[in-house]
Amino acid sequence: MFKRTLIVFIAFALAAIVVLGIVAVSALDTGVEKQARERLSAAAELVRLEMSQGMAGDVATKDSARVFTSSDHMVRLTLIAKDGKVLANTGADPAGLANHLTRPEIASAFATGGSFFDKRYSATLHIYMMYYATYDADPGVVIRSSMPLTELQAEESQLAVRISAVAAVLFLVFLAAGLLSIRKVSRPLVEMKEAATAIAKGRYDLRVHRLLGDRTQIGRLSAAFNAMADRLEASIADLEDKSYRMDAILDAMKAPLFAVDSALDVTFRNAEAKRRFGVEPDEDGSNRLMILYVRSREVEEFVRKVLREGIHGEMEWREEADEGVRIWNVSVSPLAGRDGGAIVVFTDLTEMNRLQRIRSDFAANVTHELSTPLTAIRGFIETLRGGASKDPALTARFLEIIDIEAERLHRLIDDILTLSEIEGGHAAKEPVSFDLNERIDRGVVLLEETAAKRGVRLVAGPPPSEGEPGAENDEPVRLDVRADPDRIGQMLVNLLDNAIKYNRKDGSVWVWAERGRDGRVKLHVKDTGIGIAEEQKSRIFERFYRVDAGRSRETGGTGLGLSIVKHVAMLYKGNVRIESASGEGSEFIVTLDI
Ligand code: ADP
Repeated sequence: MFKRTLIVFIAFALAAIVVLGIVAVSALDTGVEKQARERLSAAAELVRLEMSQGMAGDVATKDSARVFTSSDHMVRLTLIAKDGKVLANTGADPAGLANHLTRPEIASAFATGGSFFDKRYSATLHIYMMYYATYDADPGVVIRSSMPLTELQAEESQLAVRISAVAAVLFLVFLAAGLLSIRKVSRPLVEMKEAATAIAKGRYDLRVHRLLGDRTQIGRLSAAFNAMADRLEASIADLEDKSYRMDAILDAMKAPLFAVDSALDVTFRNAEAKRRFGVEPDEDGSNRLMILYVRSREVEEFVRKVLREGIHGEMEWREEADEGVRIWNVSVSPLAGRDGGAIVVFTDLTEMNRLQRIRSDFAANVTHELSTPLTAIRGFIETLRGGASKDPALTARFLEIIDIEAERLHRLIDDILTLSEIEGGHAAKEPVSFDLNERIDRGVVLLEETAAKRGVRLVAGPPPSEGEPGAENDEPVRLDVRADPDRIGQMLVNLLDNAIKYNRKDGSVWVWAERGRDGRVKLHVKDTGIGIAEEQKSRIFERFYRVDAGRSRETGGTGLGLSIVKHVAMLYKGNVRIESASGEGSEFIVTLDI
């Protein structure tokens, strides 16, 4: 662009200088001719004057040389008679000169009696000559003056050279000034162009220098450019912020989310979508169809339907996954933008459905568990009313059964309440410091009688390993913990109760606790009982689950004891582990952060 400007500028400057030169030269030309005419007419008129005053005498007889030598040294004077004969002539002898009547200016002067100029190229002298002829009525001759234009022309060409030199200098000055000013203007523009290209490529921090004053157009343009770049940078930063925030929000979502275009190509997936439907896009980074991630024609059809109708829709999708059936709620919202498309959000309902099932199972179980002792109680009351009360021994036996059933009912309600308290989050009281070993001793004392009745030995301490004396002989050691002592006590009693219940005659139960190197407390309850089969290990923590329902019922179990243990452990960021093989006794190890 600037090259073109420069060429135009040079062309204009050249044209101006050339025109100026032509005008000057032609002015010079006319000046030279005018000067020549004046000199010629002055010389001729002088002769005419001299002749009229008789100074020239009879021209025809006088010594013409004298008459004519007083003329301008450049001017040649010639006196011509009517018949064209040269009467007198400066310089050459008139006798040798040809008839002059053929010269146009002379012929015209004789013909009209006036004065004439003529400019001709002299083929003999090879120069331009200027002629002047004037008719003098008395004595009826023509006075002609002539001079070469050469010298004047030499002067003229000298002047022309000077003019050209000046013009050339002027041109160079113009050129330099033009180049400078174009550079001055073009530099910021070029810089602006480069900055704009760089900004377009993402270098939003680029600015142009303020090369010209603030008041110039370019200066203002630079300022406006920088202001625009500022705004652009701020807007882009703002957009990027928003986009990062949006990505962070979407990635923090626990639900897989896809954005698809109208062709169902995935244009965005959040982190959860990548985790749950983890197929990587093509190597060239291009988008893939949603069906390649979510392999369901049913879902695909549904998204198409929403796109067609343009109305938000939801569906339930049962995904046959490796680990079982997953139930998803698929919510599809059409996008209003130019490209259309939709947002597809998957909400995993599997866990919720499972919890719901557990809840309703629990309700059914509770009803069943409560109604069993109640039915028994009512049955025995009816029997007593029906006459059995008359038999004191039978009455006493029935009343005892009623008491046992009522006690079972009581325990059941207690356990249900405890569980719902723990689950409802009201379980943990402000933790207090207490000695866990002292709690263990208390538990042992509490259940000693029950154990004795079953012929089970209850020991506070670990079983004696080979070569080591039994821990029961050790000095009492404190194990300080911070927790809710009632909950820990309850857990302990539940575990000890089971260890006694599911033990064999003459069996043993050991209970002890220790703080591990990781700072966590491990509570061990080990028995010599019937043991737990591998496949039962996870199930026995379920509510109301019993391996042997008859034995549990017989021993007065509620089926909730281990559920409570698990929940208390969870309350203290812990877990329960079982080491057992069927028939070889079991060891429950509860790890607690207390
Ligand atoms: P229950 O009231 O029936 O004891 P729990 O929840 O305490 O209910 O225990 C669930 C089931 O786990 C029991 O019915 C029993 O089959 C099994 N179980 C619990 N503790 C032991 C143990 N120490 N040895 C063998 N089986 C056990």
